[in-house]
Amino acid sequence: MNRRSLLRLLGTAGTTGAAGLLLQPEALAAEPAPAAPTAPALGPLKITKVRPILTAPHPGIRFVVVKVETSEPGLYGLGCATFNQRPLTVKTAVEEYLDPFCRGRDADNIEDIWQTAYTSSYWRNGPVLNNALSGLDQALWDIKGKRAGLPVYQLLGGKCRFAVPCYAHASGRDLAQLEDSVQRHRERGFRYIRIQLGGYGSPHLSGTADFERQQFGLPVESHMDARPYLKTTEEMFAHVRAKCGDEIELLHDIHERVEPIDAINLCKRLEPYRPFFIEDPFAPEAIGWFRALRQQTAVPIAMGELFNSPHEWVGLISERLIDFIRVHISQIGGLTVARKLAALAEWFQVRSAWHGPGDVSPVGHAANAHLDLAIHNFGIQEMVQFNPATYDVFPGCPTLKDGYLWIHEAPGWGVDLDEDLASKFPLPADRPGYWLPVRRRDGTAVRP
Ligand code: MG
Repeated sequence: MNRRSLLRLLGTAGTTGAAGLLLQPEALAAEPAPAAPTAPALGPLKITKVRPILTAPHPGIRFVVVKVETSEPGLYGLGCATFNQRPLTVKTAVEEYLDPFCRGRDADNIEDIWQTAYTSSYWRNGPVLNNALSGLDQALWDIKGKRAGLPVYQLLGGKCRFAVPCYAHASGRDLAQLEDSVQRHRERGFRYIRIQLGGYGSPHLSGTADFERQQFGLPVESHMDARPYLKTTEEMFAHVRAKCGDEIELLHDIHERVEPIDAINLCKRLEPYRPFFIEDPFAPEAIGWFRALRQQTAVPIAMGELFNSPHEWVGLISERLIDFIRVHISQIGGLTVARKLAALAEWFQVRSAWHGPGDVSPVGHAANAHLDLAIHNFGIQEMVQFNPATYDVFPGCPTLKDGYLWIHEAPGWGVDLDEDLASKFPLPADRPGYWLPVRRRDGTAVRP
């Protein structure tokens, strides 16, 4: 033990300590202070290029991934910018605006780049620019992780759980088919199962509509009447609870397609079946109805799949009007904003349920999963099984096993993109990816 350590142990320099030693301050002054430990220096890292990569290995899905290249040869990052309904607009936003904005900037300063890119268009919070921003932002987090030699969840504080519980999608055209689908997912290890009967626009729910006979709209557009949907949804919950027991958690997505007062009524009638959550009872334009819903029922509510702006979620969370925040992380601008949203939600006991359908790229699913691992107020994750070609194009894509999502443990997101292979799956030229209308009997388009 040196003199300095001994003095610290005894308490005060120049006094008689427990060991009866008298130590003089001047003796201490002669000893140089030990050097403070220093982190290994990281050299400057500049962004050299930001470019979009578009690929469609999974049928019907148009992935947009942003690749950020840096001044360090071979060091790059990937981020999800997938906007399945408008992929080419995101491509333009990245190529024509984000790339020139970012070149020469310091790749380490993620927050500064996010803030300045966010306001670089002056008008903001729209889905196209948010997706482009997400591609850039997630790629910078990927680079940060690779530079640190750590998976991104480690940069966020480490794991709160060993893997990410996921829910499966069960559906059927009738109750028997649905029950079968639920049982198959249970056999695969899922404990959380979303149940949907008939799908949207199914003849099971609606029959042939008057607008179809009148040739109003296009033949590819579908029909959904609210009344059969409301009736069969209650029957569906009763049936699945009776046949499949109380062990599983049941989820359901209203998908905004009924009138707000009907959605409130439905939630009340579903209470006895203990849903894990009911999703999207109202369209984003109708969020003023949440207070009335809360006053009427204690059914847990998930909301936010279509949100783009903090103005949509801050009030719902801080007034404790929802239970799960359901945003699509690339639609809100990437990990930088999503981790702040998660932190806000934690103080209001709102849990996460990030949107995770097929039109999130494997890079985006990795971002969902890394955040899921690191936050305490995780709720549940949605994930899909991609086709084999998608796993080939994106080596390291998180995988589903026994009802959990497992990330590939590697620095950054742990997901790569085989560009040569990706180029073999161009976006379908004949189908731009429109969200097709669902109509009422008279042809009125329903807002999703
Ligand atoms: Mg949904």
